Amino acid sequence: MREYNVDVLIFGGGIAGLFCLDKLVRDCYNAYLIEKSALGNGQTVCSQGIIHGGMKYVTAYLAGTAAGFSKHLREMPAQWHEMLSGKRKPDLSSAKVYSQNCLFWTLNQGGMLADAKALIATAGLNSLTELLKGDSIPEVLKHARRVYAINETVVDCLSLLEVIANEHQHKIGTCTKTEFINDTSSGQVSVTRAVLDEKICIKPQLIVFAAGEGNEYLARAVGVQNPVLKRLPLHQAYLVSNKLPLLYGHQIAGDTTGKEGPQITITTHLRNGVRAWNIGGKPAEQGVNQSASELEENMRKILNTSFPDLRSVFDSARFGSFKIDRAEMWTPDKSRITNPVVRQIGKNVFVVYPTKFAFAPLLADWLFEAVKSVKPATKDFVEGLIPACIGKNPWHFTKKS
Ligand SMILES: Cc1cc2nc3c(=O)[nH]c(=O)nc-3n(C[C@H](O)[C@H](O)[C@H](O)COP(=O)(O)OP(=O)(O)OC[C@H]3O[C@@H](n4cnc5c(N)ncnc54)[C@H](O)[C@@H]3O)c2cc1C
Repeated sequence: MREYNVDVLIFGGGIAGLFCLDKLVRDCYNAYLIEKSALGNGQTVCSQGIIHGGMKYVTAYLAGTAAGFSKHLREMPAQWHEMLSGKRKPDLSSAKVYSQNCLFWTLNQGGMLADAKALIATAGLNSLTELLKGDSIPEVLKHARRVYAINETVVDCLSLLEVIANEHQHKIGTCTKTEFINDTSSGQVSVTRAVLDEKICIKPQLIVFAAGEGNEYLARAVGVQNPVLKRLPLHQAYLVSNKLPLLYGHQIAGDTTGKEGPQITITTHLRNGVRAWNIGGKPAEQGVNQSASELEENMRKILNTSFPDLRSVFDSARFGSFKIDRAEMWTPDKSRITNPVVRQIGKNVFVVYPTKFAFAPLLADWLFEAVKSVKPATKDFVEGLIPACIGKNPWHFTKKS
């Protein structure tokens, strides 16, 4: 069996693992990434791609459904803007940006509460927020009571994975079965070898688990018994039709009938000639125990009341849904984590979670800070890795409408 010494071996090729790989390689570590199936094939392929600056958390906080938001989140849109315009590493200027802004809107008699929420949210943010008027309001929201634009960019998550993976293609491989060989003589787990598909043996200085919900299995596999994973389930909906208008944003609350309605988040995704709305928010959180048909019934009702002019488009669109857990670091209580997490769980083993897609660059910086006392010390080039492909969005698993 071939044996290689490397500085860092990362498991999991979603947005977290790829940003960590990029950062460590740029900082001269001989780092490699191992993916189990396809890159991003967990939460990242399902993500709505909003580079949150905190808007969502302010409204959720006001609605009593979230613990607040981190001050770090406010800094993320500006950092991403620099990466997306090629002024900061990683250079993401060739990634696909769907929209420079995210909208948030309230509906006709959606209640003063909804407007008040929107205004307070605006006041709570550093990001630039603009009340749209006249022609600047997109056709699809002409019926809204108030429409705001906030500088939260919306990106095609898969194209980000493509850009970073292309840059580091010789550092990424797939492997379906890894055997870890540990040394526990110091009282702490230390991984001495990772054997990939019984073919390649890697001797890493450090191991990083960035595998989303896969972190639970990996931590157990190296002998860590403490919990490392909290799952936050969602039942997300999607609509597929090339007649759907482009829309990126949050409907705060209140429906056209004047009742307090659910907060929904809609993003439009374009790939391989397919246009899809990815629909989340409160109905996705509350629908985790619903069947696909129950969720469809509820979502169609919400969409028909929120966008009365689009009923015929919705009727002819293909509806689908998918259940997905958001993976976060385990906490002993119900409190929500509002920052990325880098946690050392063994002598040379780290587990990481971005918590939000938008935090991936900050996560990579924090990982670097956590490991930098271990100096780059190896130069082996790992041969024979099987290349990894990019995952697919859930609406691409069924046939085109
Ligand atoms: C529906 C939805 C919408 C979201 N929208 C947003 C948004 O708009 N903005 C935002 O900031 N955040 C959003 N998020 C959160 C964001 O998507 C996640 O925080 C982020 O994608 C997590 O990335 P990750 O790399 O940690 O995990 P994942 O994307 O889950 O990647 C984990 C990777 O590890 C691999 N893996 C698993 N087990 C193993 C193993 N044993 N060995 C090797 N590899 C393994 C998987 O195949 C996968 O490729 C959303 C999440 C969901 C579910």
